[in-house]
Amino acid sequence: MKEKYLENPNFPVFLNSPDMPKEIIVIGAGVAGMTATTALSELGHSVTLIEKETSPGGHVKNWDRLFPTLRPAEEVIRFTEKGLQGKANIMYKASITGISSHNKEFTVLLGANDSVRGRAIVLATGYDLFDARKKEEYGYGIYDNVITSAELESLFRVKHKVVTPDGKEPRRIGIVHCVGSRDEKVGNLYCSKVCCVTGVKQAIEIKQALPDAEIYGFYMDLRMFDRYFEELYFEAQQKYGINFIRGRISECAENEDHSILVKTEDTLTGRPLKMTVDLLVLLVGFTPSAETIRLSAMLGLKTGTDGFLAPMDEHTMDNHSSVPGVFLTGAVKGPTSIVSSISDARATALQVDNYLKSLD
Ligand code: SF4
Repeated sequence: MKEKYLENPNFPVFLNSPDMPKEIIVIGAGVAGMTATTALSELGHSVTLIEKETSPGGHVKNWDRLFPTLRPAEEVIRFTEKGLQGKANIMYKASITGISSHNKEFTVLLGANDSVRGRAIVLATGYDLFDARKKEEYGYGIYDNVITSAELESLFRVKHKVVTPDGKEPRRIGIVHCVGSRDEKVGNLYCSKVCCVTGVKQAIEIKQALPDAEIYGFYMDLRMFDRYFEELYFEAQQKYGINFIRGRISECAENEDHSILVKTEDTLTGRPLKMTVDLLVLLVGFTPSAETIRLSAMLGLKTGTDGFLAPMDEHTMDNHSSVPGVFLTGAVKGPTSIVSSISDARATALQVDNYLKSLD
């Protein structure tokens, strides 16, 4: 049977590769990829886990503490890494240059001379954060004291304090919701689900670090969809005195001292509002990752209207992609939380197991 090339047909495919065939290839060693690998290994399969970075953990390794309990992110990474130990062939710094399929077996090309084979692929390549420069009105990349929620997280994790980029302690901080999500202008109509609760968590952490700081969250509506999220929101208001203003910021400008002048409308009172903050934090949403887009093109996978990968059936086959043998897990299908990613990865492992049994 003729080899089916899924990328560049001129790209060399190592049909006679001496590599031992591996049953399953998981791509992406974030929390979802690690969990799927562990679960598949525990089901008795041989798994190769491919990661383009030098270490596992994906976005979670850049996080300091997690909502809603503020537990250290490191604990979750440690848990998922421990589960993996001795269970899989893990390849770091691996660059996928092509994928082909033949007779229900996939060959993933790595660099110029290496390849891995498997009877199923699990795509766990996660998400990218929205590029806040696309929302020029907030001044990210123009004004020093406008940062993203990921950068604030890095301040917590690395510096263990909240300071402006020029090293000052901020007295008043604004947090902007829905940056790059629910926004027709940037083409992202979807809600990123977890940025509201991230904003509430980060507001509490700022207040814990700087008890005298004033914090204002600017939102359209607050979506506290999961367990204990609403409680955290109440705690933010009642225990920490964090202010929430319903209104979308229309414009920002930088003052001489690098503070930021914010213009909005309080839509609950119907009044225009101007406020100066020392630090403005943008809650950037999820976008499909560049790696997911690149690999899905190689595999010929369908995407949804939101740009994330489409399942075989949105209700009953959520972990199956549009191509038999290729499975989807975690944020490749859209914004999700860590707890949902872990559950989803375990569900994916069962679906892959069923699929492989159906081939026998
Ligand atoms: Fe906006 Fe909140 Fe949805 Fe994030 S979770 S996109 S901040 S409504």
